[in-house]
Amino acid sequence: MKTQRSEQLFADAQQIIPGGVNSPVRAFRSVGGHPRFIARAKGSRLYDVDGNSYIDYVLSWGPMILGHAPASVTKAIQQAVANGTSYGAPTELEIQLALMIREALPSMEQVRLVSSGTEAVMSAIRVARAYTKRDGILKFEGCYHGHSDYLLAKAGSGLTTLGIPDCPGVPEDFTKHTLTAPYNNVQVLEQLIRRHDRQLACVIVEPIAGNMGVITPSPEFLQALRKLTDAHGILLIFDEVISGFRVQYGGAQTLYGITPDLTILGKIIGGGLPVGAYGGAKDIMKMIAPSGPVYQAGTLSGNPLAVTAGIETLKRLKGKGVYAQLEDRSAALADGLGKAARKAGVPLTQTRVGSMMGAFFTAGPVVDWGSAKKSDTKAYAKFFHQMLDAGIYFAPSQFEAAFMSLAHTPRDIDRTLKAAQAAFKNL
Ligand SMILES: *Cc1c(COP(=O)(O)O)cnc(C)c1O
Repeated sequence: MKTQRSEQLFADAQQIIPGGVNSPVRAFRSVGGHPRFIARAKGSRLYDVDGNSYIDYVLSWGPMILGHAPASVTKAIQQAVANGTSYGAPTELEIQLALMIREALPSMEQVRLVSSGTEAVMSAIRVARAYTKRDGILKFEGCYHGHSDYLLAKAGSGLTTLGIPDCPGVPEDFTKHTLTAPYNNVQVLEQLIRRHDRQLACVIVEPIAGNMGVITPSPEFLQALRKLTDAHGILLIFDEVISGFRVQYGGAQTLYGITPDLTILGKIIGGGLPVGAYGGAKDIMKMIAPSGPVYQAGTLSGNPLAVTAGIETLKRLKGKGVYAQLEDRSAALADGLGKAARKAGVPLTQTRVGSMMGAFFTAGPVVDWGSAKKSDTKAYAKFFHQMLDAGIYFAPSQFEAAFMSLAHTPRDIDRTLKAAQAAFKNL
């Protein structure tokens, strides 16, 4: 595979952009080698600047659930562009997207749109603190909630794969209100909440963890979260930036039947444009300015292009058979990978909820960040590069999810499995 142009661009980029990338995992640090510079994308494929094509299971880290450049979304964005790209004044589109979100996730009685998942999390935590008049927050090791200062404690993939244990530049004062607990561990959760109940404003969790690889929640864990937070007047925040509209139209909260107080969305609801959203019960959300005193604002919040892309994406996802197709194709891929690994004698622990997929190079089980870290990241790196050379693009880190889109065909999956059989044999 010819990659000279990507190599040259990466060298150029490193001169002007820190590490050559605008978001760390893109740099391939944890798997070695150099990133491929992408020229365009369509359907299930990425095309790089050297003319290579890849079947893409990263999908911009989750948003492109319809595949790349889907015709209906592209057309809607093109039409929207002609109407101007930002007004700094309200639009009817924003109501439409907010209504679609509430219809899918009824716990989000009111919705505020922002420009990224990071921003949505920061804002939701601010309102949770104001509402409860408490400062403490509890998060789980390996869960990622964006890069705001006080959430960079034990935050999974991006940080750990770079080997940054605690982020310099974050004053200790800023994280002193942040408690961390292991994922899926009801006992530790109970202890921490008992000990700190009067200080905790909220518990924030990825209801399906997607930033330490994919780790599924035990039913007891999610139930205990809801019960304990209710009992102690603590708000429960579901960060569904990945799982929202991914595992089901109504997200993980619908799938598991657990209702959080606040929900964070991002990724899919922007259809590949920058977006985030947070929402919840009206009596909490009404505290946000201008209806209440909790300040939160954004020049490009509710941007008409992003909102248009989001609306068109959700319209497609509401169609019949969409999640059944994602499930079938994801099951075919995951089952095939499992079989290939077993045949080659490679220990592989697989995790999956719908089209959110994980595979750890370990005999497992993988239930939290501690067990995820025991997987063989060197084996993953070898697998990753063999797949990349065969034109299959998985995440350049063991601790990220693989995603399926509606554009992936059975032939794409066959090709992927053939490449994987060869790759596992070579490990
Ligand atoms: C991606 C992600 C975020 C951050 O969203 P950005 O738009 O990258 O700021 C927050 N939470 C989770 C669970 C995510 O996967």
